[in-house]
Amino acid sequence: MNEFDFDACVVGAGAVGLACGYALAARGLSVVVLEKAGAIGQGVSSRNSEVVHGGLYYPTGSLKARLCVAGRRALYQFLDTRHIDYRRCGKLVVASEAAELPRIEAIARQARENDVEGIVEIDGAAAIAMEPGLRCVGAIVSPQSGVFDSHGYMWALKGGIEDLGGAVVVATPFEGASPLPGGGFEVRAGGDAPTRLSVRLLVTAPGLSAQAVAATIDGFPPQDIPPRHLGKGVYFRLAGRAPFEHLIYPPPIPGALGTHYRKDLGGQAVFGPDLAYVETEDYGVDPARAAGFYDYIRHFWPGLPDGALSPDYAGIRPKLHGPGEPQPDFRLDGAEIHGLPGLMTLFGIESPGLTSSLAIGEAVAARLLASA
Ligand SMILES: Cc1cc2nc3c(=O)[nH]c(=O)nc-3n(C[C@H](O)[C@H](O)[C@H](O)COP(=O)(O)OP(=O)(O)OC[C@H]3O[C@@H](n4cnc5c(N)ncnc54)[C@H](O)[C@@H]3O)c2cc1C
Repeated sequence: MNEFDFDACVVGAGAVGLACGYALAARGLSVVVLEKAGAIGQGVSSRNSEVVHGGLYYPTGSLKARLCVAGRRALYQFLDTRHIDYRRCGKLVVASEAAELPRIEAIARQARENDVEGIVEIDGAAAIAMEPGLRCVGAIVSPQSGVFDSHGYMWALKGGIEDLGGAVVVATPFEGASPLPGGGFEVRAGGDAPTRLSVRLLVTAPGLSAQAVAATIDGFPPQDIPPRHLGKGVYFRLAGRAPFEHLIYPPPIPGALGTHYRKDLGGQAVFGPDLAYVETEDYGVDPARAAGFYDYIRHFWPGLPDGALSPDYAGIRPKLHGPGEPQPDFRLDGAEIHGLPGLMTLFGIESPGLTSSLAIGEAVAARLLASA
């Protein structure tokens, strides 16, 4: 039996890696989280909509459906306990013309099958009574959707890991691992003070680097590394007063939930993200994309004034599917896939990964400990 430096090592201190570290530490394991950047939460978790998703859209029984609903329930509880800011403002999924009604009816059915609480279908007049600026012929109300302070959340997870005796080490890239005879892994960590650690369990949650990180693990079958696609989305901010209190979502676009409206915790209105496949991690926002945003937004909010949108920020989704391909589920791959006991590799943790993060952490910890 090996003696280990740590029971578990997690690669990546985004929302998902931190939630995995927290779940493992809460089970009494000694945990180290390795982060290559100089601070936690600088990856995909810092460039998103900060929406707490209800769990409406995903195929029933999929990881996305189950972990989003469970993760959302756990997230609100966590935010309450830790006094982290959020607003359960609710969401309207709106049909702005009759042709969209069957699509939102299908979403309502899917949401009920997914056990999402409080879903109500309303007609256009009722929706406009709730949000007078809307162009709407019918809507779904999802009262459990909201917005939250994702950075406060990640700092609380880091604090939680440390309170439980774990460590979150920044500026320390994971550079590879080798399985040890008798179980566990030797982990190679870089940075200013390169080191080697022995660990019993290893979790990789490096967001956009999931494929590159898996390729540095000796014995990881190359055919089990899924393709990597980068799905960029940009946001535009509205000058002036936020027009709606609820999140407003048109029916989804192919491959993503698409451009929606949110009033952020600072009270400002933001629209986005659209979807464009890119080859490099470039976070620029091309002001020329505004034209498409005006057309799209005026479909559900005709009152959008000319010149009111300015470029804000961009995020990149770690996608496993290319343009036109069906959107796959999250992948939490254990030894049954890659053949390496004690290792969980996470791939394709795009939306609703932030909402699902606590439930992903629980699932990863439960599966690793069940097989250990
Ligand atoms: C535009 C957009 C909008 C979204 N909106 C929402 C939303 O509203 N609600 C929602 O629930 N989800 C949303 N998502 C999805 C959500 O943001 C992600 O699922 C989630 O943040 C992924 O977290 P993560 O920890 O897996 O990845 P990350 O946050 O990227 O964390 C991975 C970390 O690993 C580190 N890392 C990489 N390689 C190494 C290495 N070799 N060694 C050490 N560290 C390494 C990175 O530096 C990074 O900090 C959105 C995503 C995008 C792109």
